[in-house]
This record gives sequence, structure tokens and C-alpha cells, in this order.
Amino acid sequence: MAKGQEDRCSFCGRSRKEVDLLISGMSGHICSECAAQAAEMAREYLKENQKKNPKYQLDRDHLPTPKEIKEFLDLYVIGQDEAKKFLSVSVYNHYKRLLQVDKGDEVEIEKSNIIMVGATGTGKTLMAKTIAKMLKVPFTIVDATVLTEAGYVGEDVESLLTRLLQVADYDVDAAEKGIVFIDEIDKIARKGDNPSITRDVSGEGVQQGLLKLLEGSIVNVPPQGGRKHPEQKMIAVNTQNILFICGGAFDGIEKKIAARMNTMTVGFGASKETAHIDRDNLLQYIAPQDLKAFGLIPEIIGRLPILTYLEPLDRDALAAILTQPKNAIIKQYVKLFEMDGVKLSFDKAVLDYIIDKAIEFKLGARGLRAITETIMMDKMYEIPSGKRKTLRITLDYAKSKIETANQLRLKNV
Ligand code: ADP
Repeated sequence: MAKGQEDRCSFCGRSRKEVDLLISGMSGHICSECAAQAAEMAREYLKENQKKNPKYQLDRDHLPTPKEIKEFLDLYVIGQDEAKKFLSVSVYNHYKRLLQVDKGDEVEIEKSNIIMVGATGTGKTLMAKTIAKMLKVPFTIVDATVLTEAGYVGEDVESLLTRLLQVADYDVDAAEKGIVFIDEIDKIARKGDNPSITRDVSGEGVQQGLLKLLEGSIVNVPPQGGRKHPEQKMIAVNTQNILFICGGAFDGIEKKIAARMNTMTVGFGASKETAHIDRDNLLQYIAPQDLKAFGLIPEIIGRLPILTYLEPLDRDALAAILTQPKNAIIKQYVKLFEMDGVKLSFDKAVLDYIIDKAIEFKLGARGLRAITETIMMDKMYEIPSGKRKTLRITLDYAKSKIETANQLRLKNV
């Protein structure tokens, strides 16, 4: 800089005397006021262009279609076509809704919360877990059985969202677009109407609390969950755009369905259709009023507009579950042994035997793993320290293991 020339701010042109502070750079100066202004602009820019968690970035141009979502589910879940379709559409619509909310569109697409009814071990949780693998929004599975009304031992309804916040690394914005799978929703049904419910965890009070979440409201969520940390600072979460998927076995609901359908067969509304009722699978006829008869309050039912069911698993389905899915139980064992350099094979009769036992113990698909585990336990213990290169599981071997196993334990998985 030429001698005698006064130092000036390169941005506003004021001289050193006219400003509080003039900061010198390599080839210029900036006054404290201009620096503050620049800092503010930089902050704004960074806020707007902040790198969002790439895990939760929806790609507008490549939303997976419902068909693609279902195809993905098909890789892991056997059968259950109807439930898969409903779930796929529901998730797809959720994505579209989020994109629209981001755009600030005036036509508001309503949330399509979904409720899946199906006997235990038919794949409700599996379906939820599988879909989570491909989701671009935070997802969590929570259990309704832990809920109680405020003031009782158990969890407050708000704590359902704690897990979601944790999954989203406490990014409230991401959590507010997430999906929550509420398992065992049937356990908060009102007692009374329904003799088969053994536990009334909470009944209507919890349902009212849950309604608040389903409807969409701002709730205060304990970031660490539970009531163990009374000092924790609550985080406000808006549930307006959170998708809720509920699942439950609704044991005994077939009776309600049958009762409703019987009343349809007499009187004015009777139609020829009733002649074709498939009495072995009444769940396929489930309607919202059956949920009400079971003990869910109408407001909750109204907030779960998509109602679908899972098929009971027959022999063929169980056989397929054992061997076909990408992570089928048998494939998992073959892999486990392969890692020890052992080629494992099962005689066909063994697979049939496993299925027979699962049916006999009334364990559905849930039992397949427990039974296979019991058969394989000793081999898993011995093989890694042996020198064998092949292992064939025969029917006699499988029978001997199951017959000597603790049957009570097996039946209670
Ligand atoms: P639910 O939630 O309906 O009680 P789960 O989804 O937890 O049942 O199923 C228990 C186990 O049974 C799963 O981990 C899976 O191994 C197996 N299973 C159940 N249904 C299916 C299915 N339709 N396809 C593949 N595996 C299944």
C-alpha cells in the first residue's frame, strides 16, 4: 500500500478512524461492522444449505413405487400379499405427503396410518423390520404393552417417540417425518367386552393418550424415555407428519367378526355372498366395527383408516419360510457352518419334521427357529473344534434332539 494513504475498509470504504476496529488481511481490510454483517450472511447461508443427514434424504425423482416396495418385502416375507400391498402404498403415500409438505402445497394429503391384524408369528413385525431396511425416514418399533396412564407404573404414551428421536440422532426435523410401528396395539383395548384379554394394561386412558399422537399434535417427549430421569429436558415433537403403523394379534376377534356376519345373514341384509364365507379364515372379513367390538375406541379406529390382515400360515407357507426368504432360517445355519469350513445339509425329512413340530406346538413361524436351534445346538458347540468338512442332519438325529429337549421351554417361545 502506498505510503501516506489511509487504511480503509475494503467493503464500506470507511477509514480506520471512522470505525471501531479495522482488521487487516493479505490485500485489504474489513471493519468490525462489515465483518459482523458478513458473519450473519454466512450463518444464514449455512443454515439454509446445511448438509442434512444423507440417510434421510428423499430423492424426489426416484421414490420407490409401491410395486418396488412390495418386491423388496417379497424377498424376506412369505405370502401376506394383501398386507404387503397396503403397507407399500401407505409408505409410498407417506413419502409423497412429505414432499408435498416441504413444498407447502395447499392440498393437504391426509396421513394413512395403518393397522395390521394377524395371529402371532405371521409376520407383522417382520414386515415392519423389513420395510425399515429400505426406508429413507427414521423408523422404530415400539411395544404398546409398556404403556400405562400417567401416574401408573409403566411408560407414558409420549415415550413412544423417544426411540424415534434416538434413531434420528435427536434431529427433531427428521423424527417428525418418521414412521413408528406400534406392536401389540390390541393389548390396550378396553377390557370388559372381551373375555380373552388377560391383561388390561391401561384401557381407555392410554387409548386417549395415543389418540393425541395419531391425530397430530405437539407432544413433549422425554429424550431418555421413561420416568427414570425426571430432570431431563423435554423435547417438543410435532406428530402431524409421523406415520403410525399398528399391529396386533387381536386374539378372539374372529368371534366378533362371526357375530357380525351372522347378524348379516339373517334379515333384510342377507345376501347370497354369505354362502361363501370361509369360516377357517374369518380375519379376511375384518371391518372397523370389529375393532370397536374388541375394545378400541372409535376415535382411534378413525385415525387408523387403513385396516389390513395377515393370513394364517399353512404348511406350505411354513415350508417356504424355512427355506426361501433371503435370510431363511436354514440358509442362516448353512452360512454359519460355512464360516467354519463345513458344508451343512438337511435331509428333506428333517425339514418336514421341523414344520410338523411347529404346527404341533402351535408356534407358527415363530417356532421354526426355536426347533431348528434345538436340533443344531450340540453341533454348533462341537463342530468349530473338530475337523469335519461336511455335516448331514438326518431325521433320526433331529428326533433324538427334540425328544430329549426341554419340551416346556420349546413350547413357550
Ligand atoms: P408377529 O409380529 O406377527 O407376531 P413376527 O413377524 O415376529 O410375528 O414373526 C416371528 C418370526 O417368524 C419372524 O422372525 C420370521 O422368522 C418368521 N415369520 C413369520 N411370518 C413370516 C412370513 N410371512 N415370512 C417369513 N418369515 C416369517
